[in-house]
Amino acid sequence: MQTLKDFDLTDYNTFGINAKAKFLVEINKEADFLELLETTEYKNNQKLFLGGGSNMLLVKDFDGLIVLNKLKGIEIIKEDEENVWVKAMGGEIWNDLVLFSVEKGFWGLENLSLVPGTVGASPVQNIGAYGSEAKDTIFEVEAIDIKNAGKKVFTNKECEFGYRDSIFKNKLKGKYFIIAVIFKLSKKQNKNVNYRALQEYLDENKLEIKSSGDVARIIAEIRESKLPNPKILGNAGSFFKNVYVDIDKLLEIELLYPDVPCFEEENRTSPLTPLLNKERGNQTIKIPTAWLIEKCGWKGKRVGNVGVHIKQSLVLVNYGGATGAEVLDLANKIIDSVDQKFGIKLTLEVNLI
Ligand SMILES: Cc1cc2nc3c(=O)[nH]c(=O)nc-3n(C[C@H](O)[C@H](O)[C@H](O)COP(=O)(O)OP(=O)(O)OC[C@H]3O[C@@H](n4cnc5c(N)ncnc54)[C@H](O)[C@@H]3O)c2cc1C
Repeated sequence: MQTLKDFDLTDYNTFGINAKAKFLVEINKEADFLELLETTEYKNNQKLFLGGGSNMLLVKDFDGLIVLNKLKGIEIIKEDEENVWVKAMGGEIWNDLVLFSVEKGFWGLENLSLVPGTVGASPVQNIGAYGSEAKDTIFEVEAIDIKNAGKKVFTNKECEFGYRDSIFKNKLKGKYFIIAVIFKLSKKQNKNVNYRALQEYLDENKLEIKSSGDVARIIAEIRESKLPNPKILGNAGSFFKNVYVDIDKLLEIELLYPDVPCFEEENRTSPLTPLLNKERGNQTIKIPTAWLIEKCGWKGKRVGNVGVHIKQSLVLVNYGGATGAEVLDLANKIIDSVDQKFGIKLTLEVNLI
């Protein structure tokens, strides 16, 4: 195991921000991590676990040790008539796992086709897209406690999953290194195509779903047509979380903007500001943050090296040579204008490093 110094992270974050890490080590097998725990670099520095760098903004150089997850392997560990349990190591590319599962005809991961990043990061923010979330199929998460190197297996419930959230992004942030995730998938057809944009696409193009592979392929097509490819235009997907409001707030906005799009969702963990958080039971209503940003005039706007993507206002982009501070500055301007116009404080989906 080699410790690299003053490591250039430009190619290790999808924003393409030019920043450095004081140290970086690659973990290729579990024993590497145990060996790492004994090193002075590990003992004397702050640590950051890194997968594909597709959900982070490097605001400055990282003055510590980056632990890069390269653990590989996907295997079926158990099956019965209806289900199959698939164990994927944390350094596997998420979409490779999706392809593995749909090639075998399993159902459960197909709606998360083409989400960038690694398997090990998928529980951290409970990745979600097209009406599906990682929590729907995660059975267990295997992780190493960074204090004592002990292995802990988290059940789905223990992961405390929420909307783009989990215990690994909150209480246990940075405290466990996720080495593998076990997914419980279905062998029987179990399609989930009720998500509006997906259903509309299927209807418009008169497409019929016969397999989980069909779903994965179609979602990949939709995503490629809407989202910027980080290899061409640096970005980290949605920069902000969607907003959940109570009915009073929705009515207040509706008075001024009768066209406000909203979706009722039950039992959501609300990422609201205290201002909005006078909950009425569990009822919360989703307002797409992209709409709020558009109404503030930001869609497609460029400020120097950074901007708001022309097709998707939730996505901030690096036109080339941007610093993390420039991206953050734009994000703060957007947060301020949404707050001023709607009295809603946006929260970040991306991790600031
Ligand atoms: C174009 C684009 C589209 C996207 N679309 C979606 C989408 O549809 N839905 C969605 O949910 N997300 C989306 N994202 C965000 C991103 O793909 C996911 O959050 C993904 O899970 C991040 O994986 P990663 O390996 O790149 O994580 P990283 O960015 O490397 O890390 C993210 C966080 O997880 C922690 N972490 C990483 N690995 C480990 C580990 N092994 N153990 C413990 N902690 C760890 C890191 O320290 C960091 O805090 C998109 C991003 C891009 C660029």
